Amino acid sequence: MPDQLLRWVELGSEPGVAPGPLERVRALLNTDDRFHGTDHLADGPAALVSFRDALRRYLTSGDVAGLDALAATHPLVVTFGAGAATLAPAGANDVVGGLLAEVHRAHAAGEWPRLKACANPDCQWVYYDGSRNRSGRWCSMNECGDVMKARAYRQRARQA
Ligand SMILES: [Zn+2]
Repeated sequence: MPDQLLRWVELGSEPGVAPGPLERVRALLNTDDRFHGTDHLADGPAALVSFRDALRRYLTSGDVAGLDALAATHPLVVTFGAGAATLAPAGANDVVGGLLAEVHRAHAAGEWPRLKACANPDCQWVYYDGSRNRSGRWCSMNECGDVMKARAYRQRARQA
């Protein structure tokens, strides 16, 4: 079966590509490209857009209300195989359910806290923080990191 998500989502856009299947979640979040002001899901399925927006709210503010309500309509089941128990969507072709299962797996694996939105308010690109101490704040040190440091410097200079 072809991967339905890939009709709408492009995997592997730098910076901050996530490892393994978590990249599917990150790539969906970045279809709302605020840096370029482009919504790549503008013509996408409403269910996928709602899920993306609820997941972004959860990622950036911890607000679970929208995501919980949505998850309740996409049941997951435990499946066994190759010595592992994993969650999978109960419904065949449930793209949102598959992504919810991946979010669950990422939480259990401790990967979820590494998924962050860039602290530059003009960017907000979602990236995977691969730094050892998880201290990254910007999608890319060369671009947003320098822009934000310069902005903070000017602000301090004005206040001094
Ligand atoms: Zn950024």
